[in-house]
Amino acid sequence: MIPYGSHFISEEEISAVVKVLKNEWLTQGEQVPAFEQGLCNLTDAKNAVAVNSATSALHLSCLALDVAKGDVVWVPANTFVATANCARYCGASVEFVDIDIATGNISVASLQSMLLHAEKSGRLPKVVIAVHFAGTACEMETIHSLSKKYQFKIIEDASHATGASYPNGGKIGNSLYSDITVFSFHPVKVLTTAEGGASLTNDNQLAERIRRLRNHGIDRDLKNRGNSWEFDQTELGFNFRMPDVLAAIGNIQLQRLEGFLNRRREIAARYYDELAKRNIDCVGSINNYSSFHLFGILLDDNQISEKQNIFVELRQQGIGVNVHYKPVYLNSYYQTTHSSISSCASAEMFYKKEISIPIYPELTDIEFNKVVSVLETVLEKSYDNCGNW
Ligand SMILES: *Cc1c(COP(=O)(O)O)cnc(C)c1O
Repeated sequence: MIPYGSHFISEEEISAVVKVLKNEWLTQGEQVPAFEQGLCNLTDAKNAVAVNSATSALHLSCLALDVAKGDVVWVPANTFVATANCARYCGASVEFVDIDIATGNISVASLQSMLLHAEKSGRLPKVVIAVHFAGTACEMETIHSLSKKYQFKIIEDASHATGASYPNGGKIGNSLYSDITVFSFHPVKVLTTAEGGASLTNDNQLAERIRRLRNHGIDRDLKNRGNSWEFDQTELGFNFRMPDVLAAIGNIQLQRLEGFLNRRREIAARYYDELAKRNIDCVGSINNYSSFHLFGILLDDNQISEKQNIFVELRQQGIGVNVHYKPVYLNSYYQTTHSSISSCASAEMFYKKEISIPIYPELTDIEFNKVVSVLETVLEKSYDNCGNW
């Protein structure tokens, strides 16, 4: 089966890990600070704090922005559940914003109209989380100016977008349009540390707070204590640290990132080209700034009822497709905890149409051609049989 995504580990990462294993520090050594510096160099952010997952990074970012019980956090309906869960960890409630079907990103028009209503009802969000779906930037300039008007904070969930840019050329992560940007380094993402994540911010105090919260709420970490045994826990934190063994993988992956992105963009450009010839709609558009973590096709209206069959057929023919995402509020946890969820029509339509097809640096040209030809035959068959599999 050709998977929809895959990590790319070379001998270099393996020997970097072995080297750390033979070192004095398996965790809290030199590798994590080097990785954090590397993320700052990549993005031009002032601070990067590496943690054990993007889920932890989102959680600590919400805490650092003082999200608490009684607050409301807005997230796009089309995202991984972790984007919403972080607000729940802090006791806040979550409201969902609809998306643009063309990109899968948060719809600025929906955001605007929700803000108008929320202002009247006195339920403005404390934080809005923007997810750069598949690695394509949201309209951050508009969202940023709305945040000034309505006084909310912004977290960019850039779990799909390590190494991606805004259309104006700035790197996602520079946090020029937000308070904090979060990356994920899970193996399925663009750059991996096996498990890992980071919060990037230009606000030194937010960075300090996140640093402290990842380490139990203790000000100094083990290595910087010098000859003193003293430490002081000033607030209730967690152990969300990234181990040095894993940061060593990240330090090598950062050097290879540009190569990963080039190959992803090359594959994406060829998909847009080949699939357009076959009248297959795709999410997003050809560009050189997305990281193309995912590549989604969109079924035609008359294929929606057959999505299950199409999905199974593609898998049976060796194409490891997936779907991103079921609108978060359709999960039973959110159905039972949230009494009044208004539905997001575009996110639900997107969910009915989207299928993620394989994209990752090691996808070969032969595999690429197989994906295109299998897609073509399976989708054509679904036309012929129209509801009659
Ligand atoms: C993967 C992902 C996360 C969670 O990342 P982890 O590092 O696995 O915790 C959060 N948000 C989005 C949009 C993701 O795709």
